[in-house]
Amino acid sequence: MAIHEKSLIESDRIMEHESLVVDGVDVSGHWNTMIKPRYIADYDDDFEKIIQSYGGGENVHRCWQCGSCTNSCTVYALNTDFNPRYWIYLTRLGLKEELIKDKDIIWQCVSCNKCTSICPKDVRPEGVMKALAHWLEDEGHTETSPSHVFDDEFWAQVEKTGRIEDAHVIMNFFKKTKQPLLQPWLTAFTTRMIKHLPFAHLIRMGLNFVFTPRTKSWGRTGKVLRDYVEGEKVAARQRRQQIKEAA
Ligand code: SF4
Ligand code: SF4
Repeated sequence: MAIHEKSLIESDRIMEHESLVVDGVDVSGHWNTMIKPRYIADYDDDFEKIIQSYGGGENVHRCWQCGSCTNSCTVYALNTDFNPRYWIYLTRLGLKEELIKDKDIIWQCVSCNKCTSICPKDVRPEGVMKALAHWLEDEGHTETSPSHVFDDEFWAQVEKTGRIEDAHVIMNFFKKTKQPLLQPWLTAFTTRMIKHLPFAHLIRMGLNFVFTPRTKSWGRTGKVLRDYVEGEKVAARQRRQQIKEAA
């Protein structure tokens, strides 16, 4: 049998033979690579429930491992170590230690949602990636990730004004992640915008940046949204606590 994603198997568990005879049958060729069996005892039966308690992780149990998410993934195209299908598999098996080994890469999901669009089972893999990144942070395995900082900044602006002021999001994100504001790509982007956008539009953007207007009647709507989000967070924390206590 072909071994898919061979890179995910520890090299000392792979046995390769030029030729191989099993029980008197010559299985050289397709069958010349075997994996040594592994017995796993350190799984957490409740881990899937924990990930389901995070926003975005609710449908992780639906995965049937077709691999479409990984095949379509923007980050996987650049780095084959980034593998949503594999992490969903580990989540379902409760193999937390295996997930922790990849803690420095899981947060790199760019939220393009290609995986979510293609998933035939509505697992919403992008949400699962976020749920895993948040779990790693909550358990102290990683620092607050840049994508989490970005999410928080994005949400803070929606909550306050009911709209997004891109320049504020970018500036605050760079400040909080201690990155220089003068990034070459940002300078090139701004220069092109100044060259090609109509003058009146640039003036309007400048005014919006300085005065950051609120969406009409946002006060009450913002409060309802804020209360809902806070309520969801508290409920999720309580669910996780109950799962831990019941374990
Ligand atoms: S596309 Fe959906 S069903 Fe297929 S492996 Fe990814 S999460 Fe699972
Ligand atoms: S949302 Fe994340 S996991 Fe999904 S395709 Fe984009 S980068 Fe990959």
